[in-house]
Amino acid sequence: MQKGKIDVQTENIFPIIKKFLYSDQEIFLRELISNAVDATQKINTLASVGEYKNDLGNISIEVKLDTKAKTLTVSDRGIGMTSDELDKYINNIAFSSAEEWIAKYKDKDESGVIGHFGLGFYSSFMVAKKVEIHTLSYKEGAKPVKWECEGTPEFSISESEKKERGTDVVLHIADDSMEFLEEQQILNLLKKYCKFLPIEIIFGTEKETKKEKDKEGKEKDVTVEKPRVINNTKPAWTQKPANLTEEDYKSFYRELYPTTFEEPLFHIHLNVDYPFNLTGILYFHKVKHNLEVQKNKIQLYCNQVFVTDSIEGIVPDFLTLLHGVIDSPDIPLNVSRSFLQNDSNVKKISGHITKKVADKLEELFKNNREDYEKKWDDIKVFIQYGMISDDKFRERAKKFCLLKNVDQKYFTFEEYNNHIKANQTDKDKKVVHLYSTNPEEQHGFIETAKEKGYDVLLMDTPIDSHFVNMLESELENTSFARVDADVIDKLINKEEKIPSKLSDKDKEKLKKDFENCVEREKFNITFENLGEDDMPVTITQPEFMRRMKDMSALGGMGYMGNLPENYNLVVNSNHPVVAKLVNENDESKKENTISQLTDLAMLSKNMLKGEKLTSFIKRSVDLF
Ligand code: ADP
Repeated sequence: MQKGKIDVQTENIFPIIKKFLYSDQEIFLRELISNAVDATQKINTLASVGEYKNDLGNISIEVKLDTKAKTLTVSDRGIGMTSDELDKYINNIAFSSAEEWIAKYKDKDESGVIGHFGLGFYSSFMVAKKVEIHTLSYKEGAKPVKWECEGTPEFSISESEKKERGTDVVLHIADDSMEFLEEQQILNLLKKYCKFLPIEIIFGTEKETKKEKDKEGKEKDVTVEKPRVINNTKPAWTQKPANLTEEDYKSFYRELYPTTFEEPLFHIHLNVDYPFNLTGILYFHKVKHNLEVQKNKIQLYCNQVFVTDSIEGIVPDFLTLLHGVIDSPDIPLNVSRSFLQNDSNVKKISGHITKKVADKLEELFKNNREDYEKKWDDIKVFIQYGMISDDKFRERAKKFCLLKNVDQKYFTFEEYNNHIKANQTDKDKKVVHLYSTNPEEQHGFIETAKEKGYDVLLMDTPIDSHFVNMLESELENTSFARVDADVIDKLINKEEKIPSKLSDKDKEKLKKDFENCVEREKFNITFENLGEDDMPVTITQPEFMRRMKDMSALGGMGYMGNLPENYNLVVNSNHPVVAKLVNENDESKKENTISQLTDLAMLSKNMLKGEKLTSFIKRSVDLF
């Protein structure tokens, strides 16, 4: 037996390892299994190039729990280690890399580090009071060896009884880490980190019910125990797109998100090997309006080992709304997120993914416009969010971003501009995009606009208000106005003006009468010369004021507090009922008519509530 002391250069790292990654203790299992996978892949390679000529046998990796002995064992049938290799790899290399790792991170705030990769074999001391390695190298004439260490710098190497090629790492679980002896806990960890590892991982057994025929040829159910395989060794993203069907992609989606019932809309298969390595599949799905809860569904892998499901900092924010998998050994996993964005590989990867996503959308748009339009409502929020938050994506998306009008017709920016240009300009000759945020509530205004031959866009989602702001600064010579921002004849400039039927004096007098009937602090009374068929009184809300109010309601302008409600009450001086009011001498009749007209205007804007609504109804009944 050989006894030795690990060459501790700085201090005893064991207590530090133990305490340090407390919240991430579970990664020890990922590290041990990654080593087992590496060793197995090495023997596979040696066999394939003819350097290992014996039978490979069963190369599954097995994880075993022994609750009596309080051990957790990871066994592989990989290349194993000779006694010299143990000394070199475990006592020296693995130890020094763990030591280096600790030195680098122990004083840093750990919270932002992505994957805690690289601590390696020694991470087992986070949960074990003693670790044994039993190993037999594949090399001709190698002797089985045992390495033991009790969490102090002392270790021992002796002969082992191991008969099969490969390595068993036995962890004697520490008293304060007993949860790692629970089957369910280990199963959960294996499912989390090892679900798609390339070598089969077995943990315990599971029951399977099969149909078998008995002696008389009758079919009956037979339950058998079989090894429980944790992983799918050939997940879809590692395969060639040409070998996969649409159904394969869908079933992989279900494998990733077993609790989701919705089907993905479409996918992108990523596959790059120069200048960085990246594979993966991204899925587009129905994006709903509460963006925050939908983020972080993409899983990040490094050579099929799960790292994290928070890819924040690796791809632009809007892409975190997609689902799927990204696998890249070129994403640095031992840095904190704030460092990520500056990493040149991450920048390239992020740029590549953005480009691929834009390419895919453009392709769908070009190849099947009809289908693209059908999917538009489901992906609109994603595309709008991307255009608002990412300059590069915005430029690309201008080609395939659609605008939808209240008649459910879709247009690209260019198409829409051509559609309305000649007809819809304001007094400064800017093209006016009329829009509605709620076609039910703004129905009257939409109808008026349509009757006059104008088009109204539908902008009815929370993100639309930001989108409108963005478009206004992006599209040249274009303005946006909600249909009820003013009377339509003022929003859209017409060369011919209608003369007024009322004199200025009449208007002044009438204005006073109106002022006596409405809340003055809320309404600003103006007179417009509209057509006889237009409404006698209309309530509008100036675009600028409304946007300020919307923004302050969203919390974007907190310091402005609760902005006062401010509306224009537009009296149509050419309406016969209004004209009649001028000569009305019965004051109470006049007041009644004015109240009725303003209430009707309020009603059409859904503003008539409570007491005012009740008195309006009473007044209306009295008319009969
Ligand atoms: P890393 O895996 O990052 O190299 P580790 O500390 O986990 O670091 O392991 C150090 C070395 O020990 C490995 O590179 C490998 O040579 C050897 N090793 C660890 N586990 C095994 C194993 N199960 N089979 C064979 N060799 C192993």
